[in-house]
Amino acid sequence: MAEKLLNYVNGEWRESKAGTYLNVPNPATNQVIATVPLSPVEEVDEAARLALAAFPAWRRTPAPARIQYLFKLKALMEENFEDLARSITIENGKVLDDARGEMRRAIENVEVACGIPMLMMGDFAEDVARGVDEYMIRQPVGLAAIICPFNFPGMIPFWYLPYALACGNTVIVKPSERCPITLQKAFRLLDQCGFPKGVVNLVNGGADTVNALLDHPAISAVTFVGSTPVARHIYARASANGKRVQAQGGAKNPIILLPDADVALTTSIVTDSAFGNAGQRCLAASLAITVADADKIFVPALAEAASSRVVGNGLEQGVHMGPVISPQSKARIEGLIAKGLDEGAELVVDGRNPSIHGYEEGYFLRPTLITDIPVGGTIAKTELFGPVLGMMRVETVEDAIALVNSGEYGNMACVFTSSGAAARKFRYEADAGNIGINIGVAAPMAFFPFSGWKNSFFGTLHAQGKHAVEFFTQTKVVVERWLGTWERKF
Ligand code: NAD
Repeated sequence: MAEKLLNYVNGEWRESKAGTYLNVPNPATNQVIATVPLSPVEEVDEAARLALAAFPAWRRTPAPARIQYLFKLKALMEENFEDLARSITIENGKVLDDARGEMRRAIENVEVACGIPMLMMGDFAEDVARGVDEYMIRQPVGLAAIICPFNFPGMIPFWYLPYALACGNTVIVKPSERCPITLQKAFRLLDQCGFPKGVVNLVNGGADTVNALLDHPAISAVTFVGSTPVARHIYARASANGKRVQAQGGAKNPIILLPDADVALTTSIVTDSAFGNAGQRCLAASLAITVADADKIFVPALAEAASSRVVGNGLEQGVHMGPVISPQSKARIEGLIAKGLDEGAELVVDGRNPSIHGYEEGYFLRPTLITDIPVGGTIAKTELFGPVLGMMRVETVEDAIALVNSGEYGNMACVFTSSGAAARKFRYEADAGNIGINIGVAAPMAFFPFSGWKNSFFGTLHAQGKHAVEFFTQTKVVVERWLGTWERKF
């Protein structure tokens, strides 16, 4: 029997009165494992009002006391680590090791947020004029909404939630309706932490639920991670409603392969980046640009690596890659591959329509490698969000960097080389916010910002670390004089 997912509002589990519940299938088996409500506007409204009511007492709770809840959360996440990781694999499809890596990243953000007493300290300048002092303090912004995508259901909520809470805000999290189970489990742990009622809330739903959050007057800050068209919508609508917003969008991540790159290491890293999590990472390498003769080395090496990747149920040992998230996603990716081939690209490894023994109902593709993709064509510019690596050849590093910079996205760009000079030139000139040098998934640690650029990001302050602290606080500057202090003679 599929589990009926609940909302968590004001410190209690509540069954939504939504008219529509969606099925949540395991993408490896097509079996329905849960149903998720599309919570209506009235439920968003109630959650927002209760969360705002909890704000004054929570912000008055001293920061060193607030982080005690996070220490408890960290301990509970460690205790339940395997259960959370398995849940990610079951609802999302990625292999268990990737799911474990994801939960590790989530926990790291909790750990960093435990430094809030120091991270949110202000600045003080004495005697800015005779007897006048000036200082800046950071105060929480109020109630924050955190809207999440399907591809990292365990990690992305934690890019924000621990910082928002530690800074003294109350929160409502809206997970992806396609992968809502792991967060439900995480909220069981948050429930055990004993946060005061209304401080931390979970509301399930889809686009209408999100729009109700964007429009709600009780909400002061909105974070979003998802596709670029929706990120743009979130940024426009929430800022028009006077909220501070950060919206991380989609990606089309180019990697440059130079002929002097270490072949074995580069092949292994690029294969993992392009095909890990079935290409459904916002940091997946999806466009490999070979320089000069690098194609002669890397096309056969990557073809061999792509063909030998084991595809199956991510819970099973020895599997390298699981399914994509839905039948619609599978059909979309296969359609885009066909379109790219019509435009003149060359199919080297064809991963379409595979049959995975024992999982014939799953939404599987195998790794696909396509070369000679035309500049500006479908494979070169579309975020495929599947296990497809497109390749093209250029003559010089300058040409490769120009190609990287011609893209509309700027989430990640990588170079593989043994030349420090080429690497530095690339780092300096590449128009992307996360740079990998002999790294295939340049995911910033929790204490660095997740720095998307261009159409991969709308806003100023990013997820994680000091950016998150700045985002979830507003500065107050005090200029202060006490009569009698400056003319006294000591
Ligand atoms: P999505 O945009 O379809 O959905 C994300 C969230 O937006 C979900 O919670 C969904 O309910 C909501 N939503 C969807 N349509 C909406 C609408 N019309 N109005 C209001 N809300 C709406 O994204 P997804 O498919 O879940 O996630 C994959 C995308 O996320 C990819 O494009 C990927 O690159 C991107 N992503 C980006 C980053 C990053 O850091 N830049 C990280 C992870 C994923």
